Order: sequence, then C-alpha cells, then structure tokens
Amino acid sequence: MIETLLGDERAMFRDTVRRFAESQMMPFVKDWDKQRKYPAEYYKKISDIGFMGLMVPEEYGGMGGHLVDVVILGEEMGRAGVSIPLTHISACCRAIAQHGNEEQKKRYLPDMASGKKIGSYCQTEPNAGSDSASMTSFAEMKNGYYLLNGRKNFISNAAIASVFIVLAKTEKDKGSKGISVFIVDRDTPGISVGKDEEKMGRHCSSMNDVIFEDVKVPAENLLVPAGRGFKEMMVEFNSERCGNSSLCIGMAQGAYERAVKFCQQRVQFRKPIAEFQGIQWTLAEMAIQIQAARLLVYDAAFKADRGKVVAKEAAMAKKFANEMSTWVVDKAIQLHGGYGYMSEYEVERYYRDVRGWSMGGGTTQICLNRIAYEILKTGQSATQPGKD
Ligand SMILES: Cc1cc2nc3c(=O)[nH]c(=O)nc-3n(C[C@H](O)[C@H](O)[C@H](O)COP(=O)(O)OP(=O)(O)OC[C@H]3O[C@@H](n4cnc5c(N)ncnc54)[C@H](O)[C@@H]3O)c2cc1C
Repeated sequence: MIETLLGDERAMFRDTVRRFAESQMMPFVKDWDKQRKYPAEYYKKISDIGFMGLMVPEEYGGMGGHLVDVVILGEEMGRAGVSIPLTHISACCRAIAQHGNEEQKKRYLPDMASGKKIGSYCQTEPNAGSDSASMTSFAEMKNGYYLLNGRKNFISNAAIASVFIVLAKTEKDKGSKGISVFIVDRDTPGISVGKDEEKMGRHCSSMNDVIFEDVKVPAENLLVPAGRGFKEMMVEFNSERCGNSSLCIGMAQGAYERAVKFCQQRVQFRKPIAEFQGIQWTLAEMAIQIQAARLLVYDAAFKADRGKVVAKEAAMAKKFANEMSTWVVDKAIQLHGGYGYMSEYEVERYYRDVRGWSMGGGTTQICLNRIAYEILKTGQSATQPGKD
C-alpha cells in the first residue's frame, strides 16, 4: 500500500537512497562508531548527494523535498545503521524555510542546503527538558539587538554547527507564550560549546552543551516572535518526530534482516535454527511490528504534507516506533545468541544507537501526553476512520 501511495518518482528516490546507504555508509559505519568521532567524510558524502538540503526549497539550492521524503531517507539510512542529522534537515532548515523572511532564507538556506553550514537546534536546558516552558535562557531587547544569555544541553551536532536555532524567553512570566526563536551564528562573540558528551550510542554524532554569555543577536535574526515561537516550533517538532520514527523503523528493519539471514545460516540440532517454530514466530512478530510502525509514520507524513497539523499522528508514530525498534533490535540480538553480543555482528550497535531516539524529540511519556491531549482536549478521535 505504501509503495502505491509513494508512486514512481519516490520509488526511484528510495532506490537512490538505498544504493547510497548500502555502498557509501554501511561499509564504514562500524569504524565510525569505533572512532567515536564526527566523520567529516560522512557529512561530505551526504552533502554532495544533496540530502543536507532535502527540505530546503529548490529556489534556495535544496531538493525541495517533503516530509515523506525525509521518512524514506530515514528508513533507508537507518536500515544501513546510520543516522541522519535530523535537527539540521528538519528542525533548522525546515524552520527557516517555513518561518524565515526572504532575507533570512537567502542568507542561510543555500549554505545549509549544500552542507557548507550545519544547523543545530537548541531547546533543552539542564533544568528544562520535557518542561520546555520553564526554560530560563533569556534574550533582552536592546538597541537593535537582543542580548542572549543561557545554557542549553544535549544539543546534537553543536560541535560542528555554524548556525544555531535557539529558543529563549523574551518575555518573562509568560511560560511558553514568552518564548521566541532566533537564528544565531556560531561565530558571534559570547558563544561556547561544551565537551563532547560520552553517550551509549550514536557515536558518529556529537552532543554538547551550548553556552550563551551576553551574546548580541541582531534584531533581524529573530525567526519567530514570542506568542507564536513555541507553538510554531512544536508544529515543526511533528516533522522531527516523523523523521525520528523513520530512523527507528529503518534500524529495526536492518537488525531484522540481519537476524533472518543469521537464522537461516546458523545450524544447531542439525538444522538451520530458522526451522524451529519458536524462531519463526519471533521473526514473524518482528515483521508485524515493523510494518505497523511504518504504516503509522507514513500516515502522519502524508497528512502533514497535505497541510494537516499532525501532533497526534506524529506522537503516535514516534511512541510506537521508538518502543518497537528497541524491542525488535533486542530480539535480533537474542536470535544471534552469543554472537549478537559481539560487535562484529553489528546488531549490538543498532541497539545502542536506537535507544536514544525515544528521548530526543520528546520522550515516550511526553508523546503519550500529547496523544491524550489531542483526544481529550481537542475532541480529535484517536482511531475512528473518517474522523481525522
Ligand atoms: C539522543 C538525544 C538527542 C537530543 N538532541 C537534542 C537536540 O538536538 N536539541 C535539544 O534541544 N535537545 C536534544 N535532546 C534533549 C531531549 O529533547 C531531552 O532529553 C528530552 O526532551 C527530555 O528531557 P530530559 O532529558 O531533561 O528529561 P526530563 O524531562 O527530566 O524527564 C525525565 C523522565 O521523566 C519523564 N517525564 C517528564 N515529564 C513528564 C510528565 N509530565 N509525565 C510523565 N512523564 C514525564 C520523562 O519522559 C523522562 O522519562 C536530545 C536528547 C537525546 C537523548
């Protein structure tokens, strides 16, 4: 069904991404993970093929893609065992494309589309994670600029970013309604980036604190003013959640394929273990879970591309895909027996990498809160056909 909805052009795009991921990513990702450092060659490759500008309109040098294209990219790259810089592609490029004025778009998007400039999204703070509205970063309007102070943490790709999309309060005591969104150039005096965090997985991407001390942000770098800032970013978060889900689905798919192959080859009790019904049922359950998540994310992405605000659908897809992928990859390790615990077989890396996705972009519980809110407060049906 999904392939029918995607059509020929997107089938070609999927083939292109798959060939790229299998030939240019898969053979190297094991080493990148071991080196625990940002691979410049990775960014060069995905920039050269144009993926950094996937969501940038063509007139600004991008591919002019939609959310469904991001989902295809995420699925195929995830399957190959690599992540994509989602915050650059979605939270930063898309935010500027959607909310920027002409001057901002011309100034930032071409370089971001080509990968010359990498964007990083700064929302979370040490004391304001899920409860973003309690953030304390503050930007005070002065004569022609905002004076920005604050500290952000868990910021993906901050170490290599040239452009930060920063959420900060411009009006105190107004909760989320006091939050504005800024485009901040990395080379502005007063910005420092903390050490690379040591993480469980996703070793190919950095994560750092970003500290703003009396940073003078030009007034023309205001992207979305208070009142709309937080709300608009939460809408952008729906794209981020779909991209996040697609990576999880891809990683689950990659681990599952490895498990199928292993079970067909591994002989115990004089036959391939794939001939044992207990093994077959596990593989069948894995396939069901992956396909169910896939249907949820394409449902959300297709609706978003038609202009619907998909807060509920994106949260459903993310919550399901995050938990599904952890479960599936865990099963893939189990089916490999002791070999699954060894890095040579790579499924353990999929497990380490996939686990973090249920935190970034809003945790599982926050997704459940959002789904319940949409059902109870807005009267949106959770499941009734024709009602959403
Ligand atoms: C891999 C990764 C990448 C990230 N990238 C970025 C990035 O690029 N930019 C950025 O700004 N941030 C980023 N983050 C931060 C991420 O958005 C936060 O980790 C997330 O919002 C949760 O905040 P917290 O970690 O402070 O947890 P907390 O909010 O302190 O939550 C702790 C626990 O309490 C639960 N909880 C909190 N409130 C509720 C509630 N109301 N009901 C039920 N349960 C609740 C949470 O679900 C969680 O289980 C990233 C995080 C990770 C792990």
